[in-house]
Amino acid sequence: MKWYKKLHWQIIIGMILGVLWGLISSITGLNDFTTDYIRPFGTIFIDLLKLIAVPLVLASLVVGVSSLNDMTKLSRMGGKTVAIYMVTTIFAITIGLTVVNIMQPGGTLPAETQASLIESYSESVEGRDDDAQELLDRSPLQFFVDIVPENFFEAAADNTNMLQVVFIAILLGIGIIKIPVQKGRPLINVFEALNDVIIKIVDLIMKTAPYGVFALMAAVIVDLTGDDLGQALLLLRALGWYCLAVVIGLLLHVFIVYSSLFKIFSKMKLRDFFKAIQPAILLGFSTSSSLATLPVTMERVEKNLGVKEEVSSFVLPVGATINMDGTSLYQAIAAVFIAQVLGMDLSIAQQLTIVLTATLASIGAAGVPGAGIIMLVIVLQAIQVPVEGIALILGVDRILDMVRTAVNVTGDAAVSVAVAHTEGKLGDLHFDEDEMQE
Ligand code: ASP
Repeated sequence: MKWYKKLHWQIIIGMILGVLWGLISSITGLNDFTTDYIRPFGTIFIDLLKLIAVPLVLASLVVGVSSLNDMTKLSRMGGKTVAIYMVTTIFAITIGLTVVNIMQPGGTLPAETQASLIESYSESVEGRDDDAQELLDRSPLQFFVDIVPENFFEAAADNTNMLQVVFIAILLGIGIIKIPVQKGRPLINVFEALNDVIIKIVDLIMKTAPYGVFALMAAVIVDLTGDDLGQALLLLRALGWYCLAVVIGLLLHVFIVYSSLFKIFSKMKLRDFFKAIQPAILLGFSTSSSLATLPVTMERVEKNLGVKEEVSSFVLPVGATINMDGTSLYQAIAAVFIAQVLGMDLSIAQQLTIVLTATLASIGAAGVPGAGIIMLVIVLQAIQVPVEGIALILGVDRILDMVRTAVNVTGDAAVSVAVAHTEGKLGDLHFDEDEMQE
């Protein structure tokens, strides 16, 4: 098959053309056209993915749980999943802190750029701390209270309540196991059929992915540049060192932590892993949302990485909600960067506080665009750095959101491979050769 017929190449071509179009439209004054007639296709594409996320998680997890005949397996898998998620997150933050302390990106920002950044973005910072404050004001056990929904439809009505949907699916699955087989069978058949149908729908939606990401990238560029491309380039130059620190940290995390994870828990090669889940990573990058990417991550992890459904249907939705290695690493770098720019020296105790709060903040961050920078407020407050400092980094956050989301998605998929291997639920790798042919 010709290379350009492969889905991931088509997505990459869509992304590049989208960036080019965004640049052309900001130079030639076509921004309104892009916003009115191109952006909506990106929105439709993301909405389609979000639309199927809840039914997919519900159907595949019910099928997964009801196929387990042993409940201890489920709790063992749950414990293992959460433990590995926590460990990878702590590694991510540690890598972030190391990189930012070595590179010292805060030292490179001239005083006048600093003042003008704070001035131009301070208005947009206002109000961002409300959500974060709400999270801080809650009781320590509120996280668990929030997992249990009081109403099925309410839980399913909001994509960010994914943990509630996971809870309902597990309950349903357990209920099915506990009744006689012939009684539960029809219900399992329904969920199995629903699951198959939705996976087919994911395939169909992915055929439009190259166009969807074209529109998304064009819209991102238009948002970033506004009508003044020169201004945007200046901003990038001023914050280039900071952006570079985040990207280097993220790459180190992927290559050190995930390849060690594979060495310890499975025989999978990092290269094969990437090859198999490429479209999910590219989609994480272009949508900036782990939740919107979830259906594709699940499909890739099951079909291409060989992770059995009973593992992926649990590990991935939980990961899309609580495991954000990219976000926590970025938060560590952003917090120290802001402190450096404001001339504040952080003590070891403050840096340890970052490890704790960035872990919590990334658990609390929803898998939607921009969630990470909102939760950064928690980290800044804990180390007594003025929250207004967020104004410094707001201008480039959209770009970093894309990169960290790609890492968040990669992290969830990597942990699902590790958990599946230890549970004896990892099948063979499979690379699609016939993508995009039909
Ligand atoms: N956009 C990220 C995600 O969906 C969260 C963040 O803003 O860091 O995973």
